[in-house]
Amino acid sequence: MRKKLVITLVVLISAILFFIPKPENLSKKLFKEEYLALGTYLQVISPDKDAGKIVFDEIKRIESLLSKYDPDSEVSRLNRTGVLKTSPETFYIVKKSKEFYSLTNGAFDITVAPLVDIWGFTEKKYEVPLETNIIKTLKLVGSDKIILREKDFVIQFKTSGMKIDLGAIAKGYAVDCAVKKLKEHGIKSCLINAGGQIYCLGDRLGKPWRIGIKNPRSGKVRGKLRLRNRAIATSGDYEQYFFKDEKRYTHIINPKTGFPVENAIASVTVLAPDSTTADALSTAIFVLGKDKIKLLTQRIKGIEIRVIEK
Ligand code: AMP
Ligand code: MG
Repeated sequence: MRKKLVITLVVLISAILFFIPKPENLSKKLFKEEYLALGTYLQVISPDKDAGKIVFDEIKRIESLLSKYDPDSEVSRLNRTGVLKTSPETFYIVKKSKEFYSLTNGAFDITVAPLVDIWGFTEKKYEVPLETNIIKTLKLVGSDKIILREKDFVIQFKTSGMKIDLGAIAKGYAVDCAVKKLKEHGIKSCLINAGGQIYCLGDRLGKPWRIGIKNPRSGKVRGKLRLRNRAIATSGDYEQYFFKDEKRYTHIINPKTGFPVENAIASVTVLAPDSTTADALSTAIFVLGKDKIKLLTQRIKGIEIRVIEK
């Protein structure tokens, strides 16, 4: 009888201990900040009140280098002149983009910029271009035509009229730079969400961050992921698109055909150790289709891919 009582007490006490938050988390609350950056909502959640400003400042710094919408950015200047001595950050991300171009057999290609323009996605004045215009524009596409001069950070285009668009990787890179800054400030817990590019730094008051993936068609949240020190990014046909003659044209372009991607995928979510990889690969898989997922997971370590079909 006494033995039973002791066992019950031990079980009860361990259950209570299990539910009591760690003492260091008792007094902590989370600061939630929202900003506008990179053309989207930037959300920062952290027990550290300085995290929001640190993240925002760093993301704005990267945006001022990489945004094609800022005429003074390095990317805009390079697009105008075809050759530019850049900052180490711009050089790094263009180099990284070329690596993803090779890894994805050309599906990820930042030189799609002129195609993005003629389909009207840059100015949001959508139109289906003439086929002759698509064929002509395709001559400007191909990241193998970007020359990188490592010794002095010079980027040069081989063909005049070429342009780059970092829209598929810049948010991820900006988030990674912000995470680096947080670590430099000794901040160990923070969630950054830059328009669906998410990084979970450390944990949320002692437990993993919980992230849901929304079905783009029904709006229902499917499965909660519990993440620590992990990036997650989603690409899909629901983000930016237009309808013409009842056909949906999405903003992700197949660099081989010059046409917006058409496949069975509604959205692709990629989990990776860093946001740059998650961002680039979610766009690339949207172009490549479901069949190539296995190939990519063999080539790139530490990634998980989830696809929602139409
Ligand atoms: P994301 O939302 O990360 O999938 O990026 C989509 C954006 O990347 C588009 O709005 C374009 O600016 C750009 N983009 C479109 N197609 C490609 C492609 N095949 N490779 C790289 N960037 C692309
Ligand atoms: Mg992307």
